[in-house]
Amino acid sequence: TEADAESAHSYDLERLRRDMLHETAGEVDDSIPELAASDPGVCGIAIVDGEGDTRATADARLKFSIQSAVKPFVYALALRDGGESVLDKVGTEPTGEAFDAVRLESDTGRPPNPMVNAGALLTASLVDGSSPDERFDRILRGISAFAGRELRIDRAVSESEQLLGDRNRALGYLMRSAGTLSVSVDDAVSVYARACSIVVSAEVLAVMGATLAFGGRNPVTGVQVVPAKVVTTVLSVMATCGMYDGSGRWLRRVGLPAKSGVSGGLVAAAPRRLGLGVYSPPLDEEGNSARGALVCEHLSDDLGLHVFGSA
Ligand code: GLN
Repeated sequence: TEADAESAHSYDLERLRRDMLHETAGEVDDSIPELAASDPGVCGIAIVDGEGDTRATADARLKFSIQSAVKPFVYALALRDGGESVLDKVGTEPTGEAFDAVRLESDTGRPPNPMVNAGALLTASLVDGSSPDERFDRILRGISAFAGRELRIDRAVSESEQLLGDRNRALGYLMRSAGTLSVSVDDAVSVYARACSIVVSAEVLAVMGATLAFGGRNPVTGVQVVPAKVVTTVLSVMATCGMYDGSGRWLRRVGLPAKSGVSGGLVAAAPRRLGLGVYSPPLDEEGNSARGALVCEHLSDDLGLHVFGSA
């Protein structure tokens, strides 16, 4: 409604950012050297509405690797390319476990959902392409369309992810043994690691979130990136699985489909309202940005974004 749009336009994002800087809980991820070097004191917030208008705070253009925040978008591209068959290959159930849990569905050998590492390794392999490079190039073009600008990868991050990706390789071999991964483990890890290394900012994530919020149409460029039906599936799975073993509390407290990443990035979509991007490296015990979660809780309360909120 007009009132909703007005409230988002007049909201004092900088004040919220200043308040959140006093929240110092959480630890910077140290899974790879590039992430361990992140500045715990930064916090960037950006909102993009249906007209493509962007509002952003200081730090909202700081660049970082997208990490697992890429997963819903890779899932969207796999669904666009592979259709309903993707739903047979990757489950859509939350696990209540960590993002890198070594766990496949006992009866089918499928990964439980596309928001954990096992699922994302598989969905990345389901994007069209006859080689890992072709698949990754198609993913990069698709993610760039969600962002409304040409994105690139951080090569140092990509190399570290592949060098230190033994646990992801183990997940790959587990899926190969279960007959669920059809490409080689090295191919799957290579594509997934590069996808995690795509460089974004809070502002870029907000445009990506807005593209999901408006049925797959990027409100900045006007491009229909994926069909609206694909977005319905993606938002549903984000809502139940996107924040890992904190997804239940997240849905209760924030009430928005969202996806976090260990770089401290967080993307959320308020359907038919706005897209939200936050960047603050310190992580909570589930591997989600601690400040990012608080920012989203405040915005959901203050702007009435909760999908189950009262009218
Ligand atoms: N690249 C990281 C991994 O594969 C991403 C994890 C995350 O952001 N939750 O484990």
